[in-house]
Amino acid sequence: MRPFWLEQSLFADGELAPALQGAQRADICIVGGGYTGLWTAIQTKQQNPLLDILILEGDLCGAGASGRNGGCVLTWSAKFLTLRRLFGETEAIRLVKASEAAVQHIGDFCRKQGIDAEFRHDGTLYTATNLAQVGTLDPVMTALEACGLQSYAKLPAQEVARRSGSAKNLAGVYSSHAATVQPAKLVRGLRRVARQMGIRIFERSPMLCFSPDHPLVVQTSAGSVTAKKLVLATNAWMAGMFAQFERSIAIVSSDMVITEKCPDLLERSGLVDGVSVLDSRTFVYYYRSTPDGRLMLGKGGNIFAYGGRMPVVFDQHSPYAGSLTNALHGFFPSLAQVPITASWNGPSDRSVTGFPFFGKLNGADHILYGFGYSGSGVGPCYMGGQILSSMLLDLDNDWTRSPLTRGPLGYFPPEPFRYLGSNLVRNAIRRKERAEDDNRQPWLVDQWLGKLANAAGKADKA
Ligand SMILES: Cc1cc2nc3c(=O)[nH]c(=O)nc-3n(C[C@H](O)[C@H](O)[C@H](O)COP(=O)(O)OP(=O)(O)OC[C@H]3O[C@@H](n4cnc5c(N)ncnc54)[C@H](O)[C@@H]3O)c2cc1C
Repeated sequence: MRPFWLEQSLFADGELAPALQGAQRADICIVGGGYTGLWTAIQTKQQNPLLDILILEGDLCGAGASGRNGGCVLTWSAKFLTLRRLFGETEAIRLVKASEAAVQHIGDFCRKQGIDAEFRHDGTLYTATNLAQVGTLDPVMTALEACGLQSYAKLPAQEVARRSGSAKNLAGVYSSHAATVQPAKLVRGLRRVARQMGIRIFERSPMLCFSPDHPLVVQTSAGSVTAKKLVLATNAWMAGMFAQFERSIAIVSSDMVITEKCPDLLERSGLVDGVSVLDSRTFVYYYRSTPDGRLMLGKGGNIFAYGGRMPVVFDQHSPYAGSLTNALHGFFPSLAQVPITASWNGPSDRSVTGFPFFGKLNGADHILYGFGYSGSGVGPCYMGGQILSSMLLDLDNDWTRSPLTRGPLGYFPPEPFRYLGSNLVRNAIRRKERAEDDNRQPWLVDQWLGKLANAAGKADKA
C-alpha cells in the first residue's frame, strides 16, 4: 500500500483518466506517465500539433519517481568533469548550459500554463558537513570557470550556515541555477496541460507487450494501441522489461521524510526560501523547506533491487525513516520536537555514468527509449523531452547528434555480483563517511571501495 501522503498528493487534482478499453490508434504511443513521458508528449505536440499522441500509464501519472521525489530541480554543472571526460569539452559545456536553461524553461512553462507546482527559483547550496568534504567541488568549479561557465559562487562559511539554516554546513558553494518544486503538483500539472493539448492519457493501463512491426501494436489487459512510433519512458521499470537493459542500470531507493508544519522554527533557523541544500557525500543528504513551512530531507543509495525486480518496499514507508530523522535533527536541532508527518521512498535508475541515455530499441527507428537519470531527473527530464521529441520528429539538431542518444555507455556486473557488490560498496561508504563525520581516518579498504561509486562523478543523489 502506498503511503497516504503520496496517494493524497497524486489525487489532489481529483482528476482521473480512463483506463484503456478496446482498440485505439495513434501516431505516437508513449508508455510511462512521469516527467519523461509527459515532457516528450508536450514538446512533440508543441512542434507538430497535428500529431495524435497517446500516453499509457500503468498506474497514475506521477506514481513513479516523478510524483514522489525531493523536488530539487538541479543542473549538470556539478558533474561537469564527468561530462567532459565522457563527451568532450564542447558537448559538456552545451549540456551544462542546456541543463541550466531547463530550470528556467520549467518555471516559465508552469507560469504560462497556470501549473501551481510551488516552483521557487532560489538556487542550491552544495555544502560540506565535515572537514573531509571541504573543497570537494573546487576542481569542478575551477574547470567550469576556465570554460567561461559562471555556475557557482563560493560563499563565506557564515553565509553558508545562514542561508542553509544550519551550522552543520561548514562550507559551501551556491548556484542560482536551481529551483524547488512540489513534485506531484508538477507532474499532475503536466498531465492536465497535456490533456488540454489533445494528448490522450490512459491511466491504470500497464503495457503488457508490443509487436515491433510497422505499425506496431501495444497490448494492455483490456485493449491495444496501434501506432507508428513508440516511446518507452518507464524509467526504473525498463530493467525488468527488457533483458538488454537489465545491467544498464542499478535500481536503488531514495528515501524521504517530511515534518509537520513549523514555519516559525524554520524562519528562526534562517531557512526562509526555496533553496535546496546538498552535502558532499557520495549519497548526499539533501533538504529543503516547503512553502507551507515544513522541512523535507532525503538520501539516496539505500536499498538496491535484485536485478530488474521492483521490490514492494519501494512503495511503502521508508525503512530508513529513523536514520533520516536523526540526520534531520543533526542539521536542525531546534526541530527535535516537531513530528515527522510522513516517510516514503521510491526507485531511482542509477546508470554507470550517472547520466541518462536515450536510443532506438534494437536499432529500430520507430521505437525510442530514455532513462537512467540516476536520482537527478526533475530538471534533466525536460532535456529528456527535448531529446526524445527531436528523435520522434526526425530532426537533425544538437539533441539528435548528442552522444546521449547512443544508448547505455556502460554495464554493471551480472547478478548476484551486482547486488552483493552494491551492498558491499554502500556499506563501505557508510563506514567511511561515519569515520569522516567523527574526524577519524577511514579504513583504506573503505576508501578504495568508496572510489568505485565515485568513479561516475560527484554530486549525484542516487
Ligand atoms: C524518493 C526520490 C527522490 C528523488 N529526488 C529527486 C530530486 O530531489 N531531484 C531530482 O532531480 N531527482 C530526484 N529523483 C529522481 C527523479 O524523480 C526521476 O529522475 C524522475 O522523476 C524520472 O522521471 P521518469 O518520467 O523518467 O520516470 P518515472 O516518474 O518513474 O515514470 C515512469 C512511469 O512508468 C510507469 N510504468 C512502469 N511500467 C509501466 C508499464 N508496463 N506500462 C505503463 N506504464 C508503466 C510507472 O508507473 C511510472 O509512472 C528522486 C527519485 C526518488 C525515487
